[in-house]
Amino acid sequence: MEKKIIYLDNAATTRTKPEVVEAMLPYFTEKFGNPSSVYEFAGQNKNAVTEAREVIAKALHTSAADIYFTAGGSESDNWALKAAMEAYQEKGNHLITSKIEHHAILHTCEYLEQHGCEVTYLDVDENGVVDLEQLKNAIRPTTVLISVMYANNEIGTVQPIKEIGRIAKEYGVLFHTDAVQAFGQLPIDVEEENIDMLSASGHKLNGPKGIGFLYIKKGLKLRSLIHGGAQERKRRAGTENVPGIVGFGKAAELAVSSMEARAKQETELRDYMIGRVLAEVPYVRLNGHRTKRLPNNANFSFQFIEGESLLIMLDMKGICASSGSACTSGSLDPSHVLLAIGLPHEVAHGSLRLTLSDETTKEDIDYTIEQIKEIVAKLRSMSPLYEDFMKRGIK
Ligand SMILES: *Cc1c(COP(=O)(O)O)cnc(C)c1O
Repeated sequence: MEKKIIYLDNAATTRTKPEVVEAMLPYFTEKFGNPSSVYEFAGQNKNAVTEAREVIAKALHTSAADIYFTAGGSESDNWALKAAMEAYQEKGNHLITSKIEHHAILHTCEYLEQHGCEVTYLDVDENGVVDLEQLKNAIRPTTVLISVMYANNEIGTVQPIKEIGRIAKEYGVLFHTDAVQAFGQLPIDVEEENIDMLSASGHKLNGPKGIGFLYIKKGLKLRSLIHGGAQERKRRAGTENVPGIVGFGKAAELAVSSMEARAKQETELRDYMIGRVLAEVPYVRLNGHRTKRLPNNANFSFQFIEGESLLIMLDMKGICASSGSACTSGSLDPSHVLLAIGLPHEVAHGSLRLTLSDETTKEDIDYTIEQIKEIVAKLRSMSPLYEDFMKRGIK
């Protein structure tokens, strides 16, 4: 019998929904035409791409002409930052971001710094929220762009995006947001929130991997990401990933139509889990904002243990989780996000991220909590740090 898997790593990636796969399949086989071809046979492919673009545009309250398909969140983030800094270099070379961005943003910023840009990395408070006063004070006459993520992939904290958008507008600075975790999970309105560019990715909302988009507000002078054919209004050449785009469109449609109910269900289960873990496991803390967080995210730090050991032991029980961001697991550096919210290294090391989906059941969570309790107790019983602490505590 196959081992039952409890998948609680939906911030890393999600299961492609069967309806999504079903929608994609014909575009590999019967409807394989190139959307750029003129004959009728290919026309249906062009229409499928147009439809997906419209679904996504509608979800953001914008027009389809502002959506540019890419190969994922990382590509969209790279494009937004590099192209904006290049296009507006007459104005200046300064970019403002936060210390808790995904590496797709932070490593792009490092690259830009090596190429003459100046980057301000905003602090966050103990809940992971950026300080709007610090943001205002960081703006210079040479500031081209503010890039602050919509919601954090590790601790789930949702940023005050509308306020940031208002500040960007007031100071005449462009505003990009990495909404890879938020798109499909939270309602987004790019007009109302003054967002000039927004990145998203299919595989974080039950769509396929390797497809994403960048929303670019009308009128922005961004250079093309890839030069070649006229696809994506000449801004990203290359024959469209038609099955991927169709799948992304379907996933977005499902995510948007079920958003409210899903958020309610996941929030309830998440809060149940958070409540039990905090009550039943000693020396644990919740990372991220208590309420301004993604409906499906819980992130804990267990003192006196290594998150990696916890992960491995949970894996033996069939539970898939993460000890931070997937990109940092395997390395010994504690997550930059957990350090930015002020956790000491040893506490950051004992962290565990659990991210639910609409398929997660209360039974899954009860089982997971029981396993966490057992494993944490076992790891602590082997920990000299814990032994020390207990001795000191008893004295
Ligand atoms: C997953 C993720 C990305 C990268 O998206 P890919 O499609 O995997 O390239 C970027 N930003 C955030 C916040 C993410 O969670």
